[in-house]
Amino acid sequence: MDYQRVEGGREYLARLEHGRDWRGQIEAFADAEGIDAAVFFGLGAVQDATLYFYDQEEQEYHPDEFDEPFEVTAAVGNISHLGEGRSSSGERFAHTHVTLSRADGSAVGGHLESATTFAGELYVREFDAHLEREHDDVTDLELWPL
Ligand code: ZN
Repeated sequence: MDYQRVEGGREYLARLEHGRDWRGQIEAFADAEGIDAAVFFGLGAVQDATLYFYDQEEQEYHPDEFDEPFEVTAAVGNISHLGEGRSSSGERFAHTHVTLSRADGSAVGGHLESATTFAGELYVREFDAHLEREHDDVTDLELWPL
């Protein structure tokens, strides 16, 4: 396990905007505030969702699109920069995982690509660090170089 000691920075409470993309507005917020490393958690509801599942054999993401309303029972994630090796080099990325529930209590979950926010509340904890993802050959993922 690699790790790095970090000092806590600013803390935020945020209300996500109705009709906007859940992850996109977290990234826009991080851009506006100049956040280079953070963790967050939140809850709320979305009107649809696209989840990605990472196939460990193929080392590829497979999308799953849901065109239905969900409760966001839990959203957890972190904010850092994408590495230089990508077309979106240096951009802030809100790595977000969610569990989404239906009216009957059943749930789906995974890596959140996008979702139209119905309502959402977020807690964000910034760290005094600059995290930039780097390509990892073993997993073929962009991971933290700590
Ligand atoms: Zn993920």
